[in-house]
This record gives sequence, C-alpha cells and structure tokens, in this order.
Amino acid sequence: MARGRLQPEIDIPDWLRRLPKAELHLHLEGTITPETLVVLSKRHDAVPLTLEAARKLYVYENFRAFLMTFKAVSERLQTPDDYAFITHEMIRELAAQGVVHAEVYISWGILMRFKPQLTIVAVMDAVEAARKKAEKEFGTSVLWIIDAVRHFGLEEAAAVFQLAAQLKDQYPSIAGIGIGGDEALGPAGPFREIYAEAKAAGLRLTAHAGESMGPESIWSALNIGAERIGHALSAQHDPELMAILAERQIPLELNVTSNIRTGCCSEYDIHPVKDYFESGLMVTINSDDPPMFGSHLLDEYILVQEKFGFTLEQMRELAANSVEASFLGPERKLKLLGMVEQFS
Ligand SMILES: [Zn+2]
Repeated sequence: MARGRLQPEIDIPDWLRRLPKAELHLHLEGTITPETLVVLSKRHDAVPLTLEAARKLYVYENFRAFLMTFKAVSERLQTPDDYAFITHEMIRELAAQGVVHAEVYISWGILMRFKPQLTIVAVMDAVEAARKKAEKEFGTSVLWIIDAVRHFGLEEAAAVFQLAAQLKDQYPSIAGIGIGGDEALGPAGPFREIYAEAKAAGLRLTAHAGESMGPESIWSALNIGAERIGHALSAQHDPELMAILAERQIPLELNVTSNIRTGCCSEYDIHPVKDYFESGLMVTINSDDPPMFGSHLLDEYILVQEKFGFTLEQMRELAANSVEASFLGPERKLKLLGMVEQFS
C-alpha cells in the first residue's frame, strides 16, 4: 500500500528525517555537543573553552582519545542544573531528527562513584523537570534506563539497581536498567541475581554485550534475562546464537558508526547490520554517543540506507522495530506504530 506513495524523485534524507522513529541506545552524557559544552564551560571554568577548542576535543584518532573527550565532558557536569540543561538540549536535537521517542541511558554508576556531591534525587528532579518541559515543547517522549558500570563490580551495580527500584514510583519514567562499561573486565554472568531482583521490581532489562567481546558475552546477557542487547556485533560469528535471536525476536540495539569509530568493527563494508536484518533478526538503528562519533540518529538512518542499500520500506520497518522494541506502554506504542505505518 505504501509503495504507490513513494515517488522516485523523493528526497530520501528528508523522508528519513520525517519518518517517525525511536532511539533506544543513547547515553545522556554522550549527547553533549561542542556548543553545549561551551555553555557548561562558561558556568564552571575560570577560562572557558572557545567553540573552536570544544570542537577540537571531538576530533580524535583512537579509543583512548575518545575516553579523554568523554572525561572532559563529564567533568563539566557539576550541578543538577547542568543535567537539566543537557536533557533539554538532547530532546530538542532528537525532535529535529524526527525522533518521537527515546530511551536514554543515564549512568548512575558514574554519578554514585565520582560525583558524591550530587545526590541521585537532586539529579533526577532536575532531569525530570527538563524532560517534562521539553516533551511538551517538542513532542518527543523519553524514558530513562539506569546504567551501572560492569567493571566497577557487582556491589556498586547492586546499589544502582536497588536505588532504581526504590525510586521507580517517584520517577515513573525510569523504565529499566542496564550494564555498560568494559565487557572484557565484567562478564554478565555474575549479575544474574541483581538482574532478577530488578525484574521483580518491575524494571525492564537491557545489557551492552558483544560490542568488544565475542558471542559468549551475548549468550551471557541472554542468560541473565536481558530483553534487549546493546551492540550485539559479535552475534554474526555464532549461527546458533543468530538462530535464537531470530526465533525469540530479541531486539538488538545496533550502533553502526559507533562500532567503526571505536574500532570494534574495522570497516562499514563488513558491518553485519544488513545480514542481521535479512536473517530475520529484530534490528534497531541507534546512535550511542552522537556528537562524539559525529553521527546522530538521522545520520545513521541515512548512512544505513545508502551504504547497505535498504529500501525505504525496509527503513520504515526499522523505524517500526524501534517503536515495537521500546519499553513504552501499549497506548503510546500503538499510537507511534500507527504514525510509522501511515507516514508517507
Ligand atoms: Zn552504549
């Protein structure tokens, strides 16, 4: 039915921009643009960064330099109001790309370890106020996924998830939990029990897995109950795992440019996004840390369509997957799915 609507002279980037879509793998601290960093720097630095200096920080040649950038950005988040500001800017940017819903990782693991002067409640009050205001202003809904850092160990992750369970009623936009950080230093297996506790508390479960480690890391994430897998890049090396992911329709939060920029995938030509899609896996397209990788969600849609030859109907399917795989309640999910289906 949609085919008749798609004219050959269609402006594809514009079509992809207008296509309603959800972003499911995005780190709040990774959404800070050089422009936003300059504002934060003016608040906190004796000699504020110029825009030129801030832009230079975002150009790096290796993963280590990327981590230094992430640190430079994170150090300038010092007050609840800073978090409110970056939340507002993030939602504004998302709406401009046609993102109607986003599920955003917020790293309580980092906050609790490195920013004891900021209480989680003060930060959440600030980001929630900003979220509500920006949702009204731009129409993009946001749910939070509370992220622990796996290589900080089980005890710190348990503290993060227990607090998420406690505060869930106070902040109903907390939808789930996840583990990020270094897969090599923190396999998912030991987190089984605290994942089960989070699930019992009504939290949804995600995990970064198979980004820098092999398929065993994805098996491990599935075994502790992860409902969505972040990255899942190495699933391609395990046919049995591919079959299970397809059969169970486990949503995969793929991040193509991120994988290239971090060196987890050496070149676009060998990225498995199209293979996964054609193998019937539940693929979603995401951006991870957009300004840090120089590619936001719309850029990723444009890139995937061009480089991997997805048709526009397949792009619509990817957008529908992103809504379907979200942790939204049935009412908004159905509304957004209807928007994707009727989009022309
Ligand atoms: Zn990530």
